Amino acid sequence: MELLAQCKEKINEADIVLVGFGKEFNIKREDILKSEKRYLNLDLDNACLSDLEKEWIELSIMYDCLNSGKCDIIEERKKLYNNIQKYLSDLGKSNYFVVTTCFDDIITYSEFDNDRMVAPCGTLKYMKCDKGCFKHVYDTPVVFDNINSILNKYYEDTYVDKDNMWKELSDAMPQCPMCKQVMSINIVKTNNYSEEGYRESWDSYMSWLQKTLNRKLVMLELGEGFDTPTVIRWPFEKVATVNNKATLIRVNDKVWQISEDIEAKAIPVNMSGVAFAEEIIK
Ligand SMILES: [Zn+2]
Repeated sequence: MELLAQCKEKINEADIVLVGFGKEFNIKREDILKSEKRYLNLDLDNACLSDLEKEWIELSIMYDCLNSGKCDIIEERKKLYNNIQKYLSDLGKSNYFVVTTCFDDIITYSEFDNDRMVAPCGTLKYMKCDKGCFKHVYDTPVVFDNINSILNKYYEDTYVDKDNMWKELSDAMPQCPMCKQVMSINIVKTNNYSEEGYRESWDSYMSWLQKTLNRKLVMLELGEGFDTPTVIRWPFEKVATVNNKATLIRVNDKVWQISEDIEAKAIPVNMSGVAFAEEIIK
């Protein structure tokens, strides 16, 4: 495919690479959970818990899957990220940054440097008050570990004494120190999403981006639609406008079009972002 060769050549020639992993790369929580026996045996739908409490249990199992290295769907995606990282590393592209609209956290477990990464749509690592008492975010791993240890204690192929288990789980829910309500995970589209969760990495991204001006920059926009265009699509277009040495490679199987003003600096590719990534690493 000639277009693919053209993209590879552009990446090869670049001094700096900015990679945008769009929503197409996000693995849905239900897709992870549906292959988890522990989750299926829980029968969470019939538990006498609130929706938020049920969500914490789902997230805890997902967190366990991320860390166990035993969930096929997660490991497969991680492998793809690792291969892309290796591809860039083999080309000597050590000056890179990754922006992602995914909030499944898988990329943070990959070989990509976490200090060169920003996930403005949130992460499982932080929670905040669901009612919006304040913007502060809190670490979640201790909550996940606690919930998982309760689940493991009751699990023997199926869960024994579920009533006691639900009660213990309910007591393990993280509470806002102010309103005492159950807190929620800090990912986009939850109540009172807090930008505090990614402020530090966004600042690193902005200062990195400033240094790319008038340098040979390739922006690889992979599988990003119009769900949150302010994170990848529009900023990448803006960078292409102001940097005369920039190239935007937009890969999307639905909305790959490029506006006229940056046509000369862009390569639109009508293809799925994941399929494109799998092709370039071959
Ligand atoms: Zn609160």
